[in-house]
Amino acid sequence: MFENLSDRLSGVFDKLTKQGALSEDDVKTALREVRVALLEADVSLPVARDFVKAVEAKATGQSVTKSVTPGQQVVKIVHDELVHFLAGDEADIGALKVDNPPAPILMVGLQGGGKTTTTAKLAKRLKEKQGKRVLMASLDVYRPAAMEQLRVLGEQIGVDTLPIVAGESPAQITKRAKQMATMGGYDVYMLDTAGRLSIDDTLMAEVEAVRDIATPRETILVVDGLTGQDAVHTAENFDGRIGITGVILTRMDGDGRGGAALSMRAVTGKPIKFVGLGEKMDALEEFHPERIAGRILG
Ligand code: GDP
Repeated sequence: MFENLSDRLSGVFDKLTKQGALSEDDVKTALREVRVALLEADVSLPVARDFVKAVEAKATGQSVTKSVTPGQQVVKIVHDELVHFLAGDEADIGALKVDNPPAPILMVGLQGGGKTTTTAKLAKRLKEKQGKRVLMASLDVYRPAAMEQLRVLGEQIGVDTLPIVAGESPAQITKRAKQMATMGGYDVYMLDTAGRLSIDDTLMAEVEAVRDIATPRETILVVDGLTGQDAVHTAENFDGRIGITGVILTRMDGDGRGGAALSMRAVTGKPIKFVGLGEKMDALEEFHPERIAGRILG
């Protein structure tokens, strides 16, 4: 299993006699294990291939230091390469562009991915860690319950929400949010768009219209981290149509294997900014590539 990649690699190598350098055959054997483990973790085939190639280039011919076994050495190479694949431009992690008040943040994603919960978590974080005055607005005109959910969360965390007016379109709500944020001296306003069950043309067109009104500083895709390659496809779709600036992976408190995180960065080129680690309002953390790499290696 994926969780035991570390053991698997050590196992392969510890059977070999310790040599002065990692031979091509040793590395090939180990890389087979890595590839299978990545595919089991729902990493896409092209990403698994690229990853294995990168590790191969680093590992072949590398001299084995006396203090570690060849197995430990390969585990370290794989670990470092995982971090490299996951991190991209490290300066992006956990940072949101919220200068020039009021800075709009557009939250997008599929229904049930955790968008509304994450909007509130992020608002709380901006308020508490950066001292920002935040306004949240729900654009989900199809589900009054979703609007109410955001209002209740806002009350719970002490963040204002745009008063709900029945019968308005998402575009009208966006204009009102922008106006209230400007007049009210808010630093940030967050737009929680309507979720969809799958990529839906009408709803995408609606998000485009909202984007064009708000010209968001950040467009954050919230996606369920347990859905593996589906999460990556969703990100590609949203990025192609709307243009995203970052990703938040939710449900990373579950027993997912981290495959989505690895493919996400490699396929979309967009940074994972935060991870959701539970239902509570504090359960949002900056994305730590080291932790995911550790989880993948086991
Ligand atoms: P939306 O339809 O995308 O707005 O999804 P919601 O925000 O309503 O979330 C759907 C469900 O997922 C709710 O029960 C949330 O409490 C839960 N949820 C959201 N984020 C996380 C997370 O990081 N971990 C866990 N375990 N549950 C989460």
